[in-house]
Amino acid sequence: MNDPALDGIIDFHAHAFPDALAERAIAHLEKEGNAKAFLDGKVSSLLASMDSAGIERAVVCSIATKPDQFAPILKWSREIASQRIVPLPSVHPKGPDPVGKAQLVAQAGLPGIKLHPYYQDFELDDPTLFHFFRALEQMGLLVVCHTGFDFAFPRDRRADPVRIVRLLDKFPNLKFVATHTGAWDDWDEVERHLLGKPIYMEISMSLEQLGPQRGREFLTAHPPEYILFGTDSPWTSQAETLRLARALELGSERERRLFWENPRALLGSQPRQVR
Ligand SMILES: [Zn+2]
Repeated sequence: MNDPALDGIIDFHAHAFPDALAERAIAHLEKEGNAKAFLDGKVSSLLASMDSAGIERAVVCSIATKPDQFAPILKWSREIASQRIVPLPSVHPKGPDPVGKAQLVAQAGLPGIKLHPYYQDFELDDPTLFHFFRALEQMGLLVVCHTGFDFAFPRDRRADPVRIVRLLDKFPNLKFVATHTGAWDDWDEVERHLLGKPIYMEISMSLEQLGPQRGREFLTAHPPEYILFGTDSPWTSQAETLRLARALELGSERERRLFWENPRALLGSQPRQVR
C-alpha cells in the first residue's frame, strides 16, 4: 500500500448479518442462490477480509425482505456503524409508511438505504412508488439498488437499464447507485442505455462475466466521476475482485476515482456519526 492513489479503498457493496443470524442467513442464501459464500457473514469476518485485501471502509447493505424487518435492521445498522463500516439499512418500498421509515434512517445519521427489486417484489419505475423516490430525492438519501437480473430469481425485467433511465429521468437529483456495473448479466442493455450517462455504477459481480477487455471498455466509456468499486462480499472474494479491477489497468486517475474519490464523495468525507 505504498501507492497513495490506492490508499483508503472503499468497497461500496458488501453484506453482513448480526452474529446470531449469520450462519443461518448464509446457509439459506447459499441454497436459494446456488452460490457459495467466501465469508461466514459476520462483521468481524468482513473486517478481517478488508484488512487482508487492503480495504479501508465497506458499505454494508441490508435487505428487508419483509416490511417488519425494518426496525431490527435499523437498530443493528446503528450498532455496527463505525469508521470502517457504513451500514445502509433497508426500507421495503411496498410496506407501510416507507417515507417515514426513510426519515428514521436519515435521523439516525446513516447515509442511505439499499433496495432490491427482486427480494422486495417491485419494479423500479412503478409509478405507485414515485412518492417514495421523490422523498428519498428530497432527503438526499443514497439509494444503492440491485440492478439487472439476479441469479436467484427468474429473468423478469424489474430493474433493467430502461427502467433505471426512466426512474432517473423522473428524479434527476436522486442519489441512485446502480450495482453490478449497471445491470447484472444484461450487458448489451447497459451499453445501449447507461454507458456514458451521469449514473453511478458500482462494479461488483461484473468483471468476472464481462472479462478484462469488455470490462475495461465499459469502465473507460463511463464518466470517471460515476464509477464505484464494490465486491458484493461475501458472495465474492474482496481480494479477488480488487485484483480483477486493478488488472483492467484503468490508469491512476480513473483508479483513484473508482476506489476512493467517488465513494468517499458520495458518503461524505467523514464517516457519519451515529446519534
Ligand atoms: Zn449484493
